[in-house]
Amino acid sequence: MKYILETKNLTKKYGSHYAAKDINIHLEKGQIYGLVGRNGAGKTTILRMISGLSQPTGGTFDVFEKEGLNNPVTRARIGCLIENPGIFPKLSARDNLIIKCKAIGVPDIKVADELLEMVGLSDTGKKKAGAFSLGMKQRLGIAMSLIGSPDIIILDEPINGLDPQGIIEVRETIERLNTERNISFIISSHLLDELSKIANKYGFIQNGELLEEITAEHLIEKCTKRVEISVNNTEKAMLELDKMGIKDMMVIDKNHINVLEGIDRTPDMLRQLINANIDVYELVRKNESLEDYYINITGGGKNV
Ligand code: ATP
Repeated sequence: MKYILETKNLTKKYGSHYAAKDINIHLEKGQIYGLVGRNGAGKTTILRMISGLSQPTGGTFDVFEKEGLNNPVTRARIGCLIENPGIFPKLSARDNLIIKCKAIGVPDIKVADELLEMVGLSDTGKKKAGAFSLGMKQRLGIAMSLIGSPDIIILDEPINGLDPQGIIEVRETIERLNTERNISFIISSHLLDELSKIANKYGFIQNGELLEEITAEHLIEKCTKRVEISVNNTEKAMLELDKMGIKDMMVIDKNHINVLEGIDRTPDMLRQLINANIDVYELVRKNESLEDYYINITGGGKNV
């Protein structure tokens, strides 16, 4: 099975306005999929449809190759944390989890302790959830979404409004669940740099449309723009690189050259320069940032 979740022209139209149009998302087992877009791009709309919280006006989706629309069996394989985690503020984390277990018919409430452990909240005891930090509340929300052992977790802007420590804790929780439990994630965010620390696939959304779907590996490749080389003799270095057939390069100053082609030939470049007795101080691939890439494909505007 290639995809555990696949949307097929998933569409949501409000009046004449498309909040999401012909969305085709492909999630593989074990992937962390970053759904990236500005406010109002359509991320929540898409996630709500996949989570069964709203009905598409067009298209459908498959979960583990079975029709996912209005299907309680496939629905149970997806856990979600969208908008409000639905936490009772006067109850402890454990009691919140027990209530949800009972509500959705999970008989073994020992699951609550396991889940607290998984999200790093097992030492919160009787402390009321209302007194938790935002990061702790998010982790409790993630624990709630894990009840019923779903294979896919959907998180809508899980780090929005968190302080740096909260962001790290939520990120580490996601990474742990992904590596230890092989849970796949779809995570929406407009915080690209943060998302790039964990996502291995991206979908870029703008105006309700999926502009591009790309793996992190391929994205890094696409963002790799140049090799910056620092040497004691740029003239000699350029002659050596030229011998390798490299023509697209420029001198930046008396010690630096930028090479704009043959990006994947850095080991050969290094060997060539060293064999010619040139001192190489540094040879490094420089990337366009993920944010720059996003700005380029969406046609400008820094407000991501
Ligand atoms: P945000 O990060 O701000 O939540 P988003 O990418 O999740 O943004 P959505 O909430 O999915 O965006 O909204 C996409 C578009 O659909 C917006 O133009 C929004 O105004 C519109 N929209 C969403 N829900 C409704 C609704 N119930 N009725 C009408 N329009 C809606």
